Amino acid sequence: MTPDVRAVQVRGLRKSFGQVAAVAGIDLDVPRGCFFGLVGPNGAGKTTTLSMATGLLRPDAGTVLVDGVDVWRDPRGAKRRIGVLPEGLRLFERLSGRELLEFSGRLRQLPADVVAQRSGELLETFGLAGAGNQLVVDYSTGMRKKVALAVALLHNPGVLFLDEPFEAVDPVSARTIRDVLTRFTSRGGTVVFSSHVMELVERLCDEVAIVNGGRVVAAGPVDVLRAGRSLDDVFVDLVGARGWGVGALDWLGG
Ligand code: ATP
Repeated sequence: MTPDVRAVQVRGLRKSFGQVAAVAGIDLDVPRGCFFGLVGPNGAGKTTTLSMATGLLRPDAGTVLVDGVDVWRDPRGAKRRIGVLPEGLRLFERLSGRELLEFSGRLRQLPADVVAQRSGELLETFGLAGAGNQLVVDYSTGMRKKVALAVALLHNPGVLFLDEPFEAVDPVSARTIRDVLTRFTSRGGTVVFSSHVMELVERLCDEVAIVNGGRVVAAGPVDVLRAGRSLDDVFVDLVGARGWGVGALDWLGG
């Protein structure tokens, strides 16, 4: 692993669904140890980008390198290096949280004692120790997110791709997730996550890419993009606040 290789390098990524160009030529450069935010309005192409970057959705064109390894040419090599919190959280519902971690550990070919130790620590850290033997099908949305995040961390990957990790989690859990991820990046790990919460992105991220209509409309260090303003204002300026039509919603609250 040469030190100057980017943790993630995306070039010319494209994906269309019928007539809809969900991702229309995206380039991203994510340095090692970076907390990188992918932000954009609903339908901008964030999930589609993350799905292609993590080997879940085949691109129409473009390349994704993780630590210099091509995700689509060497999927196994790339997947060893990444942890993923995918959209939709499709989990094995009939396993308990602890069993889910154990199963993931086996898939990752980790020794059983390592899995047991890490699973215990992860369940404890995310406040799921008491629910470790409960079936995932009975978990709340926030609990599902946290156990899925634990699965993403279990094999100690170099790069984490997280689709909306803070959505649906309570404030205490959000703080725990923040602390875990900050510790991860401070030790050289890289986090790429999508979010709509600008305050969080502003506070956490070193770099950000603002995506709109399947394209990157601005990217760089957060402080440079902000240029003294709030990221929220920059975001709204760039993606364009949608005005209300004359007379629209006049009936509401009347
Ligand atoms: P959100 O913030 O609402 O989660 P997003 O930025 O993650 O949005 P995507 O989910 O990547 O956006 O969607 C980008 C575009 O691609 C949208 O127009 C969406 O309708 C379309 N799209 C995404 N997945 C599919 C699919 N499987 N089939 C058809 N269209 C799709």
